Amino acid sequence: MVQDLVDGVLRGLAERGVVRGPVAAVRVRIGALEFHSREALVLAFSALSGGTILDGARLDLEVVPAMLWCEGCGRITEFGDGVDGHDPLPSAACPGCGTVGALTGGRGVERMEVDLASGTSGA
Ligand SMILES: [Zn+2]
Repeated sequence: MVQDLVDGVLRGLAERGVVRGPVAAVRVRIGALEFHSREALVLAFSALSGGTILDGARLDLEVVPAMLWCEGCGRITEFGDGVDGHDPLPSAACPGCGTVGALTGGRGVERMEVDLASGTSGA
């Protein structure tokens, strides 16, 4: 998944004629069920981007939460990171009444924007 992310960003940059870094930051909108933890995702991104023009770029994550609509009490709860998206039917317990229900949403990776480092100050 992270390899696809890195490849996608690099491809997008190449299409815009950007073939040289440095890139300051990559902003990604990502579903909460697409990853295990921010820390792991950031680590994987920095490992896979090493040696590319994304080397050293900061990964800014905008997490799209998964939603739980509780059948027990009707409460709607948003879950950010920390839910197990590798479960084919992700579920979570309602914080209100404890009823376990299926999560919806929180999928997809989109809107990959890139901030190019400007100038050469500090280099
Ligand atoms: Zn409930």
